[in-house]
Amino acid sequence: MKNAEIIIIGGGVVGASIAYHLTEKDVKDVLILERETRQGEGSTGKATGGIRTQFETEINIKMSLYSIDFFKNWGFDCGYEPRGYLFFTTDEKQFDYLKRNVERQKSFGVKDIEIVDAKTISEIVEGLNCEDIVGGSFGGRDGFINPLSVMEGFTKKALENGARVEFETQVFSIKTKGGKVKSVETNRGKIECETVVICAGAWAREIAKTAGVNLPVEPLKRQIVWAKSAADLPENLPMVIDLGSGFHFRPAKDFKREILFAYPDKDEKPSFDTNFDESFIAKVYEKAKHRVPFLYETEVVREKCRAGLYENTPDHHAILGGCNVGGLYFANGFSGHGVMHSPATGRTLAEIILDGKASFLDVSMLDLARFKENRLLHETAFI
Ligand SMILES: Cc1cc2nc3c(=O)[nH]c(=O)nc-3n(C[C@H](O)[C@H](O)[C@H](O)COP(=O)(O)OP(=O)(O)OC[C@H]3O[C@@H](n4cnc5c(N)ncnc54)[C@H](O)[C@@H]3O)c2cc1C
Repeated sequence: MKNAEIIIIGGGVVGASIAYHLTEKDVKDVLILERETRQGEGSTGKATGGIRTQFETEINIKMSLYSIDFFKNWGFDCGYEPRGYLFFTTDEKQFDYLKRNVERQKSFGVKDIEIVDAKTISEIVEGLNCEDIVGGSFGGRDGFINPLSVMEGFTKKALENGARVEFETQVFSIKTKGGKVKSVETNRGKIECETVVICAGAWAREIAKTAGVNLPVEPLKRQIVWAKSAADLPENLPMVIDLGSGFHFRPAKDFKREILFAYPDKDEKPSFDTNFDESFIAKVYEKAKHRVPFLYETEVVREKCRAGLYENTPDHHAILGGCNVGGLYFANGFSGHGVMHSPATGRTLAEIILDGKASFLDVSMLDLARFKENRLLHETAFI
């Protein structure tokens, strides 16, 4: 029978980051189990690649600050590009919220962040219809990363440090004895271990259940339309987000005329469906019509449109850490922010597993127990 010191279930960006951070702390016997034939087939390969510090909660802001510095200084090209994030709103109350949040973000050390008026917004995004916009906020260090490059970078370095990855290995269940992890059952047999980290993204809940743990992570389809413009797009477009509707767009990296746009479709019900739904195209173009005429005139690149899964928790914050089963840990429920927070997450889990708690950042509020103990967090900037 095979064994490993630490098993990581799921080889997406989160599993890869945890493997990297563990091996950097000299744990060599780390085994990633991935059910697909290659990495990136889960949500990581579907992500837009946005990264921002513009959040409401202290923990989200601090995880982003840490992660942006990491991406900037990492010796691996993950495509970090500080093009900025522009939030705008047509509602005075939401504008007040943005103003409060910018002050909050500054107080936690966010730089290059400012409140902008409609005129400035029209200069940042040439061609945006600003007639009903009351204002917004712009974060200059926010921007883009390449999700697959981040995942590959973490994996490459983890493997160089001694970690292993096994593909086409699906974990069916986690076996426990006396309240502690003993092994995992897979399609390739049993693997003994005393430590398991569930990094199975939107699919985590079912695996946790086999160890008797209720992990409140729910899959929700999110779709992106990819389109091509006949003319060059305005230069230096940032990520642009309507705070009210969640409608957003960003230029596709390395393309002068290609752009991605989307919005959170309220008609979507929790499911594991990842088929791109053609009817979404008309819905998203309808949103673009009033707001962004140059987007409305683009042509859809159907083969690049995609659907993936958000892994939502009831308070839209991640679940990081252990539980009442000895040796069982989670890094789940990122609710759409798992790529940008992957550096902070990897370090957090490595420190919790090896030292009992994360010392570089207080992540105690992201524990699983908060759902039972009614300590839910609140994030308004959940898109
Ligand atoms: C359309 C879209 C846009 C997004 N945009 C952004 C963005 O701009 N910025 C951002 O930070 N995040 C974004 N996200 C969210 C981000 O993609 C996720 O939070 C992140 O990829 C989660 O990484 P993960 O490694 O936890 O999960 P995944 O990448 O889903 O990896 C989980 C892995 O576990 C494997 N697995 C599952 N079950 C088992 C099993 N039983 N046995 C073995 N293997 C198993 C899967 O095959 C998969 O490879 C977006 C998501 C979507 C869908």
